[in-house]
Amino acid sequence: MVGIPQNLETASNRAFCNYCPGFCCYRLPGSILFVTATDINRIARHFQLSDGEVRKRFIEKRNTFKVKDDGSCIFLHDGKLNKRCSIHMARPQQCQDFPYDEPCPYLGREDLLETIYPLMEKSLGSTLLSTVAYPSLDQLLHSS
Ligand code: SF4
Ligand code: SF4
Repeated sequence: MVGIPQNLETASNRAFCNYCPGFCCYRLPGSILFVTATDINRIARHFQLSDGEVRKRFIEKRNTFKVKDDGSCIFLHDGKLNKRCSIHMARPQQCQDFPYDEPCPYLGREDLLETIYPLMEKSLGSTLLSTVAYPSLDQLLHSS
């Protein structure tokens, strides 16, 4: 059934996901992406691989995804203007549920954004971040 969202702030944040480069897809100290056996099986079917092959290629520390040099999830698309989840339809349940019907914590946490932006610049190049692709850190923090 289509209706008016009960929590407009949450709806607004979900809408922002379409324009966000995926701050929540970077591994930060203390953050954990927990990948379950069910998630692995879903991804295995997505790639037409065995569960064991998915574990071998993509999983580390038993239950989380490997990350790239910049700290982003191995499945975060590398395209400079299209930094999106490359397994969107098969992504883990935790990724589907986040931010758990709450306002996205990344959008209100200056410390998180200040940690992630240098990582993004490392992979995208600082010029792209300040041009058309994504809002700058300054824009995010000071827009109202
Ligand atoms: S950081 Fe927040 S707004 Fe951005 S993609 Fe993740 S949940 Fe959406
Ligand atoms: S699986 Fe997709 S949504 Fe989840 S952390 Fe990786 S890139 Fe982000």
